[in-house]
Amino acid sequence: MSELTKLTLKAAIDGLKAKTFSSTELTEAFIGAIETANPALNAYVETTFDKARAQAAESDAKLAKGEGGALEGAPLGIKDLYCTAGVRTTACSGILENFVPTYESTVTQNLWDQGAVMLGKLNMDEFAMGSSNETSKWGNVVNPWKSRGSNAELTPGGSSGGSASAVAADLCLAATASDTGGSIRQPAAFTGTVGIKPTYGRCSRYGMVAFASSLDQAGPITKNVEDAALMLQAMCSHDVKDSTSLDLAIPDFSSFIGKSVKGLRIGIPDEYRLDGIPAEIDALWEQGIAWLKDAGAEIVRISLPHTKYALPCYYIIAPAEASSNLARYDGMRFGHRTDAAQSLTDVYELSRSEGFGREVKRRIMIGTYVLSAGFYDAYYVKALKVRRRIAEDFTKAFEACDVILTPATPSAAFELGDQAKAADPVQMYLNDVFTVTTNLAGLPGLSVPAGLDSQGLPLGLQVIGKALDEGTVLNIASVLEKAADFSAKPSKWW
Ligand code: GLN
Repeated sequence: MSELTKLTLKAAIDGLKAKTFSSTELTEAFIGAIETANPALNAYVETTFDKARAQAAESDAKLAKGEGGALEGAPLGIKDLYCTAGVRTTACSGILENFVPTYESTVTQNLWDQGAVMLGKLNMDEFAMGSSNETSKWGNVVNPWKSRGSNAELTPGGSSGGSASAVAADLCLAATASDTGGSIRQPAAFTGTVGIKPTYGRCSRYGMVAFASSLDQAGPITKNVEDAALMLQAMCSHDVKDSTSLDLAIPDFSSFIGKSVKGLRIGIPDEYRLDGIPAEIDALWEQGIAWLKDAGAEIVRISLPHTKYALPCYYIIAPAEASSNLARYDGMRFGHRTDAAQSLTDVYELSRSEGFGREVKRRIMIGTYVLSAGFYDAYYVKALKVRRRIAEDFTKAFEACDVILTPATPSAAFELGDQAKAADPVQMYLNDVFTVTTNLAGLPGLSVPAGLDSQGLPLGLQVIGKALDEGTVLNIASVLEKAADFSAKPSKWW
């Protein structure tokens, strides 16, 4: 039975349709796997097994009649940032510790409408702020991968660490995640999984706990590129409840998988060759370039001159928006309320200082500072101008190329505690150096596992596309996936 959990989403959907196994059997296999693994990995913060069993039974009834949606009977994990009606949703923050939404996010509703089964809610960095899943109120997630010859626990990356760990350890067929500066792509790269952040506006943000509204975007983490296309298809929709969601036709993403890339122009940005990046990551990038060339693509050098300002720009805009979004958690209208208040001011101050963790407080303080009357022009407005330049860099680059290929992360998975303990929090922010630019420009980006480093840990390549061109991104990723023939899995120690 445990073999069932190893299936890709596509293989599972096909098996369900062919009645090779039932959704109930598949769901029970995942429940067993989660019960075994979760004490070690801490990927799920809440399990919803009763709900999963009920949904699976419903799916089986539909499948028996030859009916059902695109994901009928497929068990998924949901990042704890998506509001799920009647199921506690905390964004892994103490301030939302007891929040049980009365409504469903549009993305998850889309999945249930397509017949998916919910196994539970997945761990993440608090309010999606972090790159190592160590800021969660519910403790860090552990990466199922280990370095060769070492027993040390590694980070699965963040903020979607629970999603990545669960997919890599076969604790769901696929998972939802979200990406504000890299939170889908970096954990995917650290765990040998595929993660895609679509164009800003492809997915509705309705019912997703907000971090930085102009950057946040939903997307999946999956076992392969084909599954990423399937999941993304089900997650995307126009939604009148989110004014930034796009009212545009959604292409058939799966139709791009495996298409010829002959003649496609692949941009290689000079500015992504950073000092201090491990030679193995550079070598993998070169390998990726060679694979695409072999497949008939044309390689072009491009320049994204404002790249060096992307991180500072992101770390002004994201905290600014976060400080505004998180103002609603005041212990009065929303969020944890202190027991220790003597006055109204106490209610605000104590509720917030008890409810939020350190990293979230740091972002609120930075955000409030850059938005304050005296500094607004110097920091926030300046960052908005830089953001525009970064977006223009891409527009210009895409005159010369169809997609861009870069490394996904500047390192492989590192040890838990390594960077969190560093005296300088900016160390952690450097993880996002290759990923934040696409959020600032609103473009689609995908990480595909392309090899292992000398320690036996997965490394990812990133494919960045033109706005709305997820199809070409998936196409290129499928070609890289095939060339890399990445089939390594973490060996089971849990
Ligand atoms: N690591 C980045 C941050 O902490 C990105 C997080 C994200 O994409 N949600 O802001």
